[in-house]
Amino acid sequence: MIKIFSQRLIDLKKIVLTEAAENFSRVEEISEHNTLKVLEAMRRLKISDAHFKTSTGYAYGDIGREKLDELFAEIFSAEAALVRTQFVSGTHALATVLFGILRPGDEMVSLTGAPYDTLQTVIGHAHAAKGSLKEFGIGYRELNLVGGKVDVDAIKNFVTPKTKLALIQRSRGYSLRAPLTTCDIEKICAAVKAVNKNCVTFVDNCYGEFVETREPVEVGADLAAGSLIKNIGGGLAPTGGYIVGKKNLVELASYRLTAPGMGDELGASLGTPRLLYQGLFLAPHVTAQALKGAIFAAGIFSKLGYKTSPLPEEIRGDIIQAIELGSAERLIKFCQTIQKFSPVDSFASPEPWDMPGYEDQVIMAAGTFVQGASIELSADGPLRKPFAVYLQGGLTFEHAAIGILAAAQALESS
Ligand SMILES: *Cc1c(COP(=O)(O)O)cnc(C)c1O
Repeated sequence: MIKIFSQRLIDLKKIVLTEAAENFSRVEEISEHNTLKVLEAMRRLKISDAHFKTSTGYAYGDIGREKLDELFAEIFSAEAALVRTQFVSGTHALATVLFGILRPGDEMVSLTGAPYDTLQTVIGHAHAAKGSLKEFGIGYRELNLVGGKVDVDAIKNFVTPKTKLALIQRSRGYSLRAPLTTCDIEKICAAVKAVNKNCVTFVDNCYGEFVETREPVEVGADLAAGSLIKNIGGGLAPTGGYIVGKKNLVELASYRLTAPGMGDELGASLGTPRLLYQGLFLAPHVTAQALKGAIFAAGIFSKLGYKTSPLPEEIRGDIIQAIELGSAERLIKFCQTIQKFSPVDSFASPEPWDMPGYEDQVIMAAGTFVQGASIELSADGPLRKPFAVYLQGGLTFEHAAIGILAAAQALESS
């Protein structure tokens, strides 16, 4: 295709695309299914122009905000939803659930080993953090993964009648374990409920939305939460997060987001709510573009001799592609090349830095229209062994393919 790439890479691309054909059509089928799910929900709830109007001040009776909550609830098969640009990030939405539900003396557990870096700071047990759950007297235990998998059999002895909440992380995050499939989530939730039916099963759904045809609440989770600048925002949502699940639990979270007594009844839409609706409509397709990019990256880099996770042909539970690059130099080079082939800030060169909420230095390439949006083509990774880069996103497969080939070429020639 493009003159800037070596003949070797162009030939490799052809082979990888041929081998990916079956996987790609699977991704397209899931995208069609989810597009239909969104369309039917939009029809049932009679979404119209009137819901895209901006509101100000307290924004009581904002029909666009209320309808969007209903729409998310419908799509996620949940009783209720809280979808807000007032969530500053996915971590904020997740923390809002934890602080909304847990009370001093309660215990929470993580069933998927160590949680995502920013959640560790929220929990405050791995390292001290001001304002953490630990400071509020919340107990915490972690069930270690076995061979990168959730130890489902151990749950019956790990969760106790006292355990108030079980955190289940769908995506791999900054780790090389496999993401959970909805089948895995189903088994885990059932195992928790068998011991303690009152224990809240809470899924960190970041990067998982629309990767499969089912979502966590459908398979037994009480709650799920995530970021609007990942899959579910379709690349258009300017900021925000969401919580979906049981009505009484979403309500408790809403009192933490705003204030006790206020809950979900306030919150101006500012910007344009249309972007959240339109982004949701695009989300199945955009997620499919990102998945194709991930499959392509796995194909190219495994052929170049790197260890990739997932493998090119593996079934996916999230949009992340990890590639073990083996050295800090290669990790930095990879990210700098993705940045160079980005539509925004392509002239800038990312460097490792001490990002708030993260333990190790992190390098991030995100030449994105929405700052830090990782549904747009982005690559990042903590500077620790095995120097894996975590690649995700791509609003178009074309962009993902160009970025991936460019990164491969940069590593070959360095
Ligand atoms: C992205 C992500 C989060 C939240 O991160 P934010 O940057 O705050 O949106 C939490 N958990 C996982 C697994 C994630 O991928």
